Amino acid sequence: MSLTVQKHRERIGLPDGSLLVDGERRQARSGRTWTHRHPATQEEIGTFPVAGAEDVDDAVRAARRAFDEGEWPGLPVGRRARLLHRYAESLREHAEELRGLQALDNGVPLSFGTVYAGSVDVAADVFDHHAGWIDKAGGETLPPYQGGDHLAMTLREPIGVVAAILPWNAPFLLFAQKVAPALAAGCTVVLKPSEHATFSVLRMVELLVEAGLPGGALNVVTGTGETTGEALITHPAVDKVSFTGSREVGRRIVEASAPTFKRVSLELGGKSPALVFPDADAGMAGMTAMGMVTLGLSGQACVAHTRALVHRDVYDEFLGAAELIAASVTYGDPFDPGVLSSPLINERQLERVLDLVGRAERDGARLVTGGVRADGELAAGNFVTPAIFADVDNGMEIARQEVFGPVLSVVPFTDEDEAVRLANDTEYGLGAGVFTADAARAFRVARKLRAGTVGINGFQVEPHLPFGGYKQSGLGREGGRSAYEAYTELKSVLLPLTDELM
Ligand code: NAD
Repeated sequence: MSLTVQKHRERIGLPDGSLLVDGERRQARSGRTWTHRHPATQEEIGTFPVAGAEDVDDAVRAARRAFDEGEWPGLPVGRRARLLHRYAESLREHAEELRGLQALDNGVPLSFGTVYAGSVDVAADVFDHHAGWIDKAGGETLPPYQGGDHLAMTLREPIGVVAAILPWNAPFLLFAQKVAPALAAGCTVVLKPSEHATFSVLRMVELLVEAGLPGGALNVVTGTGETTGEALITHPAVDKVSFTGSREVGRRIVEASAPTFKRVSLELGGKSPALVFPDADAGMAGMTAMGMVTLGLSGQACVAHTRALVHRDVYDEFLGAAELIAASVTYGDPFDPGVLSSPLINERQLERVLDLVGRAERDGARLVTGGVRADGELAAGNFVTPAIFADVDNGMEIARQEVFGPVLSVVPFTDEDEAVRLANDTEYGLGAGVFTADAARAFRVARKLRAGTVGINGFQVEPHLPFGGYKQSGLGREGGRSAYEAYTELKSVLLPLTDELM
């Protein structure tokens, strides 16, 4: 029998999606829609509008009005903070429902929702965190540089209308990483979820409206990148684009920002290394790296340690542990608590991953396990068995391209300098892991790595730590005070306190 998620869809009673413009739900003016198919079964899950340029224009104008004339930017900070804290609580209360919607969206199993990085809790914590900055991250009053009797001060003001564009792989966290600091800073938002994970995001928006957010402060345009996304990033009334997704679309956003010099923040892809030294617990390192590459998201995680650089002395031990994890991954009905990982998001991604696996074999990398399409009751879904490539040369395509699938490349090294050189020999710079029992080595190596986040003997998402990329992994940071500030402009104000000219 083949797999089905239809019974879950019926139990949840998923309504079709709609746009949210100026507090009103509606369909696209053109009547165009997109039907979402489940990645584990190809069954039709639901339909939502594809917003065209005219709908995007309506949404941006609504956000513009809400910013220029509406109540949100000027709302007393205490009320703004209370609303966002209230929303964080509401998210926690609806966690189970949201996890179910995500399972219908991108096929991520319910079991992954108990891991902090994939949970609704982390999204709620991000809202609490940014709500906490509202009454703290203000400007400064500075002493006049040349003396005199005047005030020199800075004001921190909201940047304006923010276009927030999401990928499909982590809708809870990434919705929060953008919407929380933007609203906290007093901006208004036009949000575009990914066409591959729309329903869970629409419910998160609905809960925010129920929490009391005024109409127009958050507008939603659903649809595809080429139609809806393109209209949003080229709209002249958008002040800032905040994007998480692929490098290619990131480049297009930078290009499209030029005519009006939109502010841009980009969270892009990675090819993050795990450096495993001879004094490390190599078994734990192998399980951690392979776990990040397979469990939950099937390697469709920007920061996964997909490139393991392993000292020759512990190479076999590392590989053995990684193989154990590969063998323990289970696929199937995402609502089954025993299912630990997900399908690839669509057929295009499935073909891409299988193609990269084939090319790596032709390049001479040794396929230890996996790398084939799953069969039996999984045959209709986009499932690829967890793959490990050993004896990879860092120059090979499999060590350089972001695969976004359950594929770990293992590269041997002989000394610390070589490990650091290999780690930094990449166009990306999102994350890295250092596995060692030597604290001095851990810090020495962490400082040399050109990556936005370095985990030492493990990795955790922290809602209050900046997260982002060096090099082609992005521009700017999400999380923490710097993320909140990235939704503000800084204004300098000079005020003479006497009649003397300054
Ligand atoms: P994607 O770039 O294909 O799509 C992301 C979003 O951009 C979607 O909403 C899509 O509709 C939209 N889009 C596509 N073309 C557009 C255009 N021309 N104009 C405006 N919007 C457009 O990425 P994806 O497949 O959804 O996600 C996978 C990528 O995201 C990977 O590269 C992954 O590494 C990256 N990612 C990065 C982070 C991070 O925090 N750094 C987190 C998650 C995912």
